[in-house]
Order: sequence, then structure tokens, then C-alpha cells
Amino acid sequence: MKADLPEKSFFEDFYIWFNNDKKEEYYATPLYLYSANTKVDNDNRLVTVYFDKKEIKGRKKEEHGLQFPGNTYFPYVERLGTFLLRFLNADLATYQSAYETFFFAYGFELLKDIDENYTFALKGKYENDTVYLNEMERIFNDLQYEIKEIQNEMLKFVTYVYNLNNNEELEEYTPSQRFAVYLMKHKGQAYTYNKNDNVIKDSYSNKYLELLHLNENELLENLKNKIMLVAMRDTHQSKDLSSICYAVLEELVKLKNYPIKKCQNCGMYFIPTSRLDEIYCDYPKEKGKTCREQGAVQAYNERLKQNKALAEYRRLYQLKSMAIGRNKDNKQMKKDFEKWKKDAKDRVNKLKHGVLTEDEVYEWLVKNI
Ligand SMILES: [Zn+2]
Repeated sequence: MKADLPEKSFFEDFYIWFNNDKKEEYYATPLYLYSANTKVDNDNRLVTVYFDKKEIKGRKKEEHGLQFPGNTYFPYVERLGTFLLRFLNADLATYQSAYETFFFAYGFELLKDIDENYTFALKGKYENDTVYLNEMERIFNDLQYEIKEIQNEMLKFVTYVYNLNNNEELEEYTPSQRFAVYLMKHKGQAYTYNKNDNVIKDSYSNKYLELLHLNENELLENLKNKIMLVAMRDTHQSKDLSSICYAVLEELVKLKNYPIKKCQNCGMYFIPTSRLDEIYCDYPKEKGKTCREQGAVQAYNERLKQNKALAEYRRLYQLKSMAIGRNKDNKQMKKDFEKWKKDAKDRVNKLKHGVLTEDEVYEWLVKNI
């Protein structure tokens, strides 16, 4: 079946498309916006949806309840890759945690293809929020295992594509090469990707609403002078969570210097915003500092600590070699020094490689004078 872009607002399905130059992704989906917040950019006709418990507390109940239709002419916008990152990082332990970390932004349309027995209610016809939440919770609980499976599958896929296990054999290949090989070798898992992703080819007629305010001459002039870039973009339509994940990943691997990384502090997946060699994420954490801020402090303390042991090692080394110089005939002393030197160096090396801690090395130095 050939899919089309919806003409106006809709209450079913999920649509996503990408702009690699702007590093943005856009999606349209019906949402309940229950316990979620939005920022609306009327000039660019874009909406940002986010979740912040603090802002929700004071809101009135009547504001929620009815389903919010999706609209491809006024879509949600996020940094390119966010859909996939959010899913990799989603806490699927309970309905609530899954909602707060993933579903608040994308809704539940993506689950329709996971279980064919499901009949999602349409067009906001839940009587009230309580009915809606109970129903969504039941659907989530029934599908939780399958959703976790998809998450595990995507974690494996992303780990391979971005070589997050630092496998030496994979180092020399690019993410797009690894992406291609992974798909060829894991046909089974990629099956739904091929089956359930309806790619809607962009035809310029889709721009009708977007560019309606310009007349024919203005359009031609703008194109001629390259003021306006009307890029053709494919839109992916799907009711299958895994196929959207694959579509996002396929887009990400096309880009150079835009890798997915795993935070060395909290283990969350992220795409660096400034330095490519960044090892810490900058997701806001509930209490205080982001990992990147914490990491900078930690690294500084680590260096200070290492300095303490290294300084002690150098101090002792100098003392001992001076003593040897003063006692040239003492063969035992020289022998002891050689042994100490070997042992101490070994420990200093282990400290540098993180095998021993600063305190362990320092204590050994002090005890073995
Ligand atoms: Zn982190």
C-alpha cells in the first residue's frame, strides 16, 4: 500500500523526517500532552515538547484529557538523533518511568504494530484522563517485554555501528560501513524495518501549505538566487517503533563527526554537542550538575590525586639515589634500590592505567621506604 502524507491534522500514525544540514528531526503524531509541556514557535511553525515535573504541578486538570491531533505542517522538532537516543536511554521498568523518559514525547501510536491484538481507541474518545491513563498503562504493561526486546536489539545495533565496546577489529571502519554489514548479517531483526517503514517520497506539491504565502514569481526568484532551499525530503510513516529507530540510525550514519557515544559516568547514550572526544553527557540530572560538569571536577581531582603519589615517588627516588651516591660501596643498598625502583615503577604504571588507586600507591610508597 502506498502511503501519502496526511492533508491535515490526523489522529493516527507517526511521521518523522530529517534535515541533516540543520541537524534536526521533525515528527508528527497525535499526543495526549498529558503531563508534558510544549514550547510553540509560531514563526517557524514548530513545537518542542518536553517533560518537567516542576512545571506540571500547578496546572489545572481541565487542561488535559483530549487527544491532540498530529499535524505535519506544524510538527514537533528535536535535535537530530533525539528519538533514537531517548529510546536507548528510556527507563522501561514501569509505565510511569517509560512515559516520563520516552512516550510523553512520541505517544503510543508506535506500539500498534508490535501486537496485532491491540485496538487503540481513536480520536480522543476516552471519557477522561483516568480512563485514558488506565488504558495506556494496560497496553504498556502487556507490551513491556516486546518493547524491552526492541530496546536491547537497538542497543546491540548501535554498539556495533559506533563501536562502543572499543573493539579493535572494528576501529578502521566507518559507522556507515558497520551499519551496512550489521543489516546484512542480521536480516531477521531488520525484517520489520523493511516491512513497516512506509517511505513517502517528497514531491514538491507537499510544500503547498508551507510556501503558500509566496507567489510563483517570488518562488522562482528565491530558487534562482538560492535564498531559499526547498529540499526534497522523505517522510517515514510507521506504526512500528523499531522501524523508526532504524530510520533514524540510517540517517545518523550518513553524517561525519556526529557519533553516538556512551557517557562514561552515567552510561546514557548521547551525541556530543561541542567536542567530538567528549566522554560525558550533558543531560540535565535531577540533582545539580550534568555528567560533563561532574566529569570535569572528577578529572581535576583525579589529576591532583595522581600528582600526590607521583610527587612522593619522585621525592623518594631522588632521596634514594642520592643515598646510593654517598654509599658507593654498599652493594646491598644498591640491590635494594633496584628492587624498590622496579616495584615502585610497576605501581606507578598501574596507577596511570587505573589499575591501582592513588591511595593504594601512596600508601605502598610510604610503607616501603
Ligand atoms: Zn552522563
